[in-house]
Amino acid sequence: MKFEHITLGQRVMFGSGQSAANLAAEVARLDASRVMVIASEFERSMAKTATAQISPALWWDEVIMHVPVEAAERARSAANENDVDLLVCVGGGSTTGLAKAIALTTGIPIVAVPTTYAGSEATNVWGVTEDRTKTTGVDDRVLPVTVVYDADFTRTLPVELSVSSGLNALAHCIDSLWAPGADPINRALALEGARALAIGLAGVVANPKDLAAREQTLHGAYLAAVSFASAGSGLHHKICHVLGGTFNLPHAQTHATVLPCVLAFNAPAVPETAARLAAALGRPAIEGQEAAPAAVEALNALRDTLDAPTALADYGFTAADIPEATQRVLKAVPASNPVTVTDGDITALLTAALNGTTPAPSTPSLT
Ligand code: NAD
Repeated sequence: MKFEHITLGQRVMFGSGQSAANLAAEVARLDASRVMVIASEFERSMAKTATAQISPALWWDEVIMHVPVEAAERARSAANENDVDLLVCVGGGSTTGLAKAIALTTGIPIVAVPTTYAGSEATNVWGVTEDRTKTTGVDDRVLPVTVVYDADFTRTLPVELSVSSGLNALAHCIDSLWAPGADPINRALALEGARALAIGLAGVVANPKDLAAREQTLHGAYLAAVSFASAGSGLHHKICHVLGGTFNLPHAQTHATVLPCVLAFNAPAVPETAARLAAALGRPAIEGQEAAPAAVEALNALRDTLDAPTALADYGFTAADIPEATQRVLKAVPASNPVTVTDGDITALLTAALNGTTPAPSTPSLT
């Protein structure tokens, strides 16, 4: 066994109903006196709850999906003009994304209070959009110093959004298994994340107010994000980046739809990992040639239970888009992918995702 692994430094405070006390303790520990709270108008009531024991200097609610650079600039100016020394973001990935954009240029630390399963709070990846192009990068300044998890907040997430956001988290786990930086440490986190997400999401769908299920899902989403931050983007994320960036397909739903197609494609080339994934998703111990079909079947069964999105056609993708998407994906395929990827492979994969065909594991052509 030979690998090099970097563990990102971050404090995690997990406790339902504890966000106000935990956040106040962190503000005191960091000796912050000028706190800027970032939360969209919709997220404000959750932010009020979380900040009940501190006295913020500034509230900011101009949160826009994909962080347009002009909006980031306005927020950065406000932070500078108000001598802000700590950013507290309360909300989904878009809200965390704005805090990261401020931190990127100002170096102001972030304490994140996430309210969805996007997982941005546990990564050092930032993203801003300019002229309809999303630019992403990696910088440790944007990694929140602390994450305050309070599953109470996620109980208001509608089931449909919980499912797509949770499957986005599961995609972080599964893609980590073969991403460029995959190693035994992030693989362990990814598989435990997958186990927690599968149990948690099934519980959320059965009863959206079930706090234990919400806690499992949030815990799984954190593990997913940590593994993803370490392993990097694999084939699945490269495909979804093209579909989102070029064809403007919705983020979480696109991940939910494409995931089984990528798993069916790659799993036969990594039977041992596929066997561990199948077990994480609740299947009995299995090995050899049966592992890949078992992993795909387990994911598809979970997606059925969750009534997950199935077809890209439902989100505006068309057969006419496939040739351009294929060419863009081919340029981005990571060298680490366990299967050699051809034009025909991506065309077939996108056709299956377009139509929502339940994919069968492919015959591997190992790289
Ligand atoms: P989002 O932040 O846009 O939130 C989706 C909607 O849910 C919003 O309308 C929001 O107000 C609402 N919402 C948030 N919390 C809620 C709650 N508890 N109850 C009810 N509604 C709630 O979407 P998202 O999926 O959380 O984040 C997606 C964004 O995050 C994308 O831009 C994606 O690129 C980014 N992201 C970044 C990283 C990273 O590492 N940088 C990782 C994952 C996602």
